[in-house]
Amino acid sequence: MIIIKSPLEMRRWADQKRATNNTIGLVPTMGALHRGHMSLVEAAVRENDMAVASIFVNPTQFAPHEDFDHYPRTFEKDCELLKEAGVACVYAPTAGEMYSQDFSTWVDVELVSEGLCGGSRPHFFRGVATVVMKLFHATKPQRAYFGQKDAQQCAVIRRMVRDMDMGIDIVEMPIVREADGLAMSSRNAYLTDDDRERALCLSRALFAVGERLRQGEREAAVMLESVREAMREVEIDYVVLADADTMQPVSRVEGRVVLAVAALLPTARLIDNIIYDPTENTVS
Ligand code: AMP
Repeated sequence: MIIIKSPLEMRRWADQKRATNNTIGLVPTMGALHRGHMSLVEAAVRENDMAVASIFVNPTQFAPHEDFDHYPRTFEKDCELLKEAGVACVYAPTAGEMYSQDFSTWVDVELVSEGLCGGSRPHFFRGVATVVMKLFHATKPQRAYFGQKDAQQCAVIRRMVRDMDMGIDIVEMPIVREADGLAMSSRNAYLTDDDRERALCLSRALFAVGERLRQGEREAAVMLESVREAMREVEIDYVVLADADTMQPVSRVEGRVVLAVAALLPTARLIDNIIYDPTENTVS
């Protein structure tokens, strides 16, 4: 497994692999890898000749008051896991190589970026879309793997790829959870035992409404109220039922919808969601 740190070297490696007819699958991450990340990595290894995993804690998607400085960094251990999984290349650029001092070009995906996490973290998706565009240019993948855990991020990246004719398949992988339902996240490491226990109300609230959706409930107001009630012990950032492609709130379930929640616990901000597909009557 090769570790590449500069965009130029990354492009050269990718050019050479593509020139010799290899397909490339990219998994963008911020490191501190857990089983959720590894499910994406395993799919990329399975479905492509060359799997590339990027590890980059992207400064432009953090607001000044957020946890950029404290974000868990476990580079050596991450590399061991990636090597074992069969990854061909780790792309770990430095912030200096990614953003020159006078960096001034941003990717803004309108509308899809605006509610939910975009509402509480105003520049977040501009940072995400910009860095993912840069990672795509450097690694030249045919496929890129993202987790449903960040459902709005998936919608933003899909829209960017479509609008910019990038011709990259965006593969969305299911949320990997702990045995008790908590969605895996690098930020779970921040949780105290108390917060870890209270965090369970997010997935419990979502699963209960998932069951009601499967039984035919269609009214957003009723479901949002029941999620809020189940999350009364934590500070709610948002509870939204939205179209799964546009991320626009809906009042009734007509097509594929995402029920997404975010909570501000004292030690971490957590997000979780379920997606309901009415044509199949499935919750994922
Ligand atoms: P991050 O390192 O948090 O930026 O996440 C990198 C990728 O892993 C994103 O596409 C996430 O959606 C995905 N991911 C994070 N947690 C999970 C999880 N529990 N299950 C599936 N995918 C996940």
